Amino acid sequence: MQFTDFSLDKRLQASLNHMGISTPTPIQEQAIPVALSGRDLMASSKTGSGKTLAFLLPAMQRVISTKALSKKDPRVLILLPTRELAHQVYSQLRLLIANTQYRAVSILGGENFNDQAKALAKDPHFIVGTPGRITDHLFQHHLYLNGLELLILDEADRMLDLGFAPQLKAIHEAADHRRRQTLMFSATLDHDEVNDIAAQLLKQPEHIAIGASHTEHADITQRIFLCDNLTHKEAILQQLLQTEQHKQVIIFTATRGDTDRLATLLAEQGFSTAALSGELKQSARNQIMDSFSRGQQQILVTTDVASRGLDLVNVSLVVNFDMPKYAEEYVHRIGRTGRAGAKGDAISLVGPKDWVNFKKVQVFLRKTFEFSALEGLAPKFSGLKDAPKKKSPVKHSNKAAPQQRQGKRPTAKPAAKRDKRFITGVDVGDAPMRKKPKPAVDFMDDDE
Ligand code: ADP
Ligand code: MG
Repeated sequence: MQFTDFSLDKRLQASLNHMGISTPTPIQEQAIPVALSGRDLMASSKTGSGKTLAFLLPAMQRVISTKALSKKDPRVLILLPTRELAHQVYSQLRLLIANTQYRAVSILGGENFNDQAKALAKDPHFIVGTPGRITDHLFQHHLYLNGLELLILDEADRMLDLGFAPQLKAIHEAADHRRRQTLMFSATLDHDEVNDIAAQLLKQPEHIAIGASHTEHADITQRIFLCDNLTHKEAILQQLLQTEQHKQVIIFTATRGDTDRLATLLAEQGFSTAALSGELKQSARNQIMDSFSRGQQQILVTTDVASRGLDLVNVSLVVNFDMPKYAEEYVHRIGRTGRAGAKGDAISLVGPKDWVNFKKVQVFLRKTFEFSALEGLAPKFSGLKDAPKKKSPVKHSNKAAPQQRQGKRPTAKPAAKRDKRFITGVDVGDAPMRKKPKPAVDFMDDDE
């Protein structure tokens, strides 16, 4: 099957030819006809499988080939959880609309509100945005959604994890449910809150799920290194970066403080490194992402902010310097490599404090990892014993913590944060899965 089989408008077909894209991916093959038919859709497939075009092409086709319900209101609204992600979808949309008369704007948190109000007053046909800022404009009457024809929720589970359910409902209520089509996309849709919101926003949706989340990533080689403490982690990382050939590298740390500290250390070791943390101004973040995606640095150190959906084609290695708190996050992080069928590597450094989170990843993936080790850097740590039923498992973290702090961790603050994180991890892992705690500020990306 080829894109030409969808009989898309010739301008869209020309853009695809220009991008060198001719054969749809499986999710595109299945989702595009449903979306073109006007039905609601709930779709999931692994990261890097081409979901963006699976919704942008039908959205464009609809706008080009049908008459607008309203002359002033936007026709298509695309919502994403983070600014980086929205930026990326907006860039792809810009490529597609370049040779048409249609206009698109991006409405993101952290950018100038008045400029956005002015851009909205010009009646764009497409809006790409984060839910917080979109609802702000809605409530300020800069934006009306009565004529909205198509609502697209990308990375829906993540938007809900970030607490955007009220905004999604407000946006839904501002639009005319009867006339509107709604498409929901994510890498993971097996999520209670997603099903709740889908029941409210979608009308008899078609369901498409390609590849369950735990079977994905055949193209990514995953290695686990056990580590004794922070210094040991740093030594292993340095040796791996020096001895292995990698294109670009993304390194995930648990907190912003760790991001900055590690980036400085790697720069001192002579690696060209950028650090991306949530507290930077939006313009600074855009600049960092742009220069990294243009290959100006080899290494990007970041927290989970950058782990979702970002399409960085030259990343061949992802490093979990700290294990993520949620097992799904591991899948999203390593999905930053191995994009569109390319091969990728993922390395996880597992110290005593990461152990509980590491075990959760194994359970989630239904996989038992073998451990790798480097010559001269073999660990003493060999995993924690499962906590006996009655004793509080927090004891283990107290034992492990002083060792971990022997490294260069500078102030008491990040250490305190980490302890809290570890305790949370133990809580969640030990109890039957409860409702997830609200993500920490580090994960919060839409700044209102
Ligand atoms: P997802 O949202 O599923 O994580 P993206 O939409 O970001 O994935 O796409 C990942 C990469 O694959 C992008 O670089 C995109 O340009 C490329 N891509 C998308 N569709 C195709 C296709 N049909 N053929 C080749 N490459 C594609
Ligand atoms: Mg995506």
